[in-house]
Amino acid sequence: MSQIPKSHPRYQSLMTRETISKAMKQGIVHETGLIAHGRGEAFDYLLGETTIPQADAAEKVAAAALLCAKNPVISINGNVAALVSDECISLSESIPAALEINLFHRTSTRVRKIATFFHNKDIKTLYGIHPDARIPGLDSDRALCEQKGIFTADVVLVPLEDGDRCQALVGMGKTVIAIDLNPLSRTAQSATITIVDNVIRAIPQIERWVHKLKKTKQSEQERLIRSWENSKNLENIMCFLSKRLNSLC
Ligand code: ATP
Repeated sequence: MSQIPKSHPRYQSLMTRETISKAMKQGIVHETGLIAHGRGEAFDYLLGETTIPQADAAEKVAAAALLCAKNPVISINGNVAALVSDECISLSESIPAALEINLFHRTSTRVRKIATFFHNKDIKTLYGIHPDARIPGLDSDRALCEQKGIFTADVVLVPLEDGDRCQALVGMGKTVIAIDLNPLSRTAQSATITIVDNVIRAIPQIERWVHKLKKTKQSEQERLIRSWENSKNLENIMCFLSKRLNSLC
C-alpha cells in the first residue's frame, strides 16, 4: 500500500482505491472493476458520501426481504470481495443466507482466487465454484450459477450487478435487491429493491436492520415488503440529487 497520511481530506476514499487496486493486482478484481468503482465514486460524491434517508429506507426493506426469504443468497463479485468480504460474511450469518460467487468476467482462475480468499476467512458454504445451472436469457459464462444457490433462491442480494443479469433474475420471479450508487443504471431501474448507497456503508447497515427487525413479528416484516414502492423511492432520490445540485447554483 502506498503511504497515505491519515490527515489527507480524502483519506477513506484513497484507501478504498488502494484496496481495489491491490485486489486487481492479486487477480480478485477484474480491470473493468476499477472503471465501475470510478463511476460509483462519482455518484457517491453527488450523494454527499453518506447514507441518505431513501437509501436507509431501502436497506430496512432489504433486511425484511432477506429475513422473510426461504432461500436468500448474497452474490459476490470481485469488487464486493475486495471491499466488503467480512461484512458480507457477517450479514450472511445474521440472516442466515448463502454466499455465491457470480462474476461478469468469469475465469476459473478468478473464481478460484475469490473462493480461496473467502475460504481463508473460514466460511462454510460458498456456492458458485462448480456451477450446474444457467440464468435463462443470458449468453456466455455470465449465466452460470448453482442450482442450490442463485438458481433456486427466492431473494438475491446483488451488490454491484450488471443490468442484463439483474433483469434476468427479476424475470425468473426472484426478489432482487441491488446496491448501486447510480440511480439511473439499468440495474437500479430494474431491481425489486434498489439501494442507492455505497456497498461499504450499505452492507453493514442492512445487517443493523436485520438485528433490529429480528425483534419484530414476521407480519411486520411482510408489511414493510408489501408497502415498498421502488420506483417512488428512486424518484425521491432523483429529487434529492437535483435539490442538492440546485442548492449549489
Ligand atoms: P447497468 O448495466 O446496470 O446499466 P453499468 O453498466 O453502468 O450498469 P457496471 O459497470 O455494470 O454499470 O457496474 C457498475 C455499477 O456499480 C455502477 O452503476 C456504479 O455506480 C456502481 N458502483 C461501483 N462501485 C460501487 C460501490 N462501491 N457501491 C455501490 N455502487 C457502486
